[in-house]
Order: sequence, then structure tokens, then C-alpha cells
Amino acid sequence: MERRFGRYFPDMEALHAGFRTQACFVCGLVPGAVESPRHVFYEDDRAIASLDGYPRAYGYSLVAPKEHREQVGAARMYVYTFGSNEGNAHVHWHVVPLPPGVPYEEQQGAWAGWDKGVPEIPQQEMSDLAWRVGRRM
Ligand SMILES: [Zn+2]
Repeated sequence: MERRFGRYFPDMEALHAGFRTQACFVCGLVPGAVESPRHVFYEDDRAIASLDGYPRAYGYSLVAPKEHREQVGAARMYVYTFGSNEGNAHVHWHVVPLPPGVPYEEQQGAWAGWDKGVPEIPQQEMSDLAWRVGRRM
């Protein structure tokens, strides 16, 4: 049974301002780096996994390379998983490349919503893209 916790609402404006102006918080998780609360539950030479400092759910975690990296080919690669036991139950991950040049306000969780609609990409383009991605794996 999940424990119940109160909820709070961080100052999101200050939080995002910090993301844009302060030292990298992920690098702060690495031992010997900037002091910050650490809730690391896995690390090896290349990767680190930690509970999120602002967990929107119990167990909300982050996984990152230990080396400060900002590129994965796209401007950013988002990985989400949704669904629940009540619907869309088969576990799966959404891997979402963020194209370069997207304004900050339209990045991050904004890509998980439906409010902008779905691009009408022709099936031939989808087939070609699947082939190109598969070729690189
Ligand atoms: Zn970093």
C-alpha cells in the first residue's frame, strides 16, 4: 500500500530560472561535485540513478550519464512511460526526439500532451523514417 504524503507546489518560475542559470543539478549528484541532497540508488563508472529532487510521484527517478552531456543527436531525447494497470497496460516507453530550435516553453513535458494535435505524417514518410532509424541501431 502506498503511503500518503501531503503535496506542495514549488515556485516553478524560480525552478525553471534555476535550470537556465545555475550549475547543472545532474552533475551535482556525482560524488565530489557541488553539494546537493543525494538519493542515489545506482551508479557505475558511466551512469548514475537517483530519486528526483522534486518527485511528482513516489519513486520518481532520474537516470543520466555521469559525464555532463547535452546532446544525443537531437536537441534532446525525452523518454516517457505512461499507461496504468487500468488502461494502456502493456509497459512501453515513449522516446521523443526534440528537434533543435524549439522554444524553451514548448520543451520538456509539453511534448507529452495532446493539446497541439498530432502531425499528419504520410505513411510513406513514416516507413522511410522507420527504416532510417532501424539502420542506425
Ligand atoms: Zn551536468
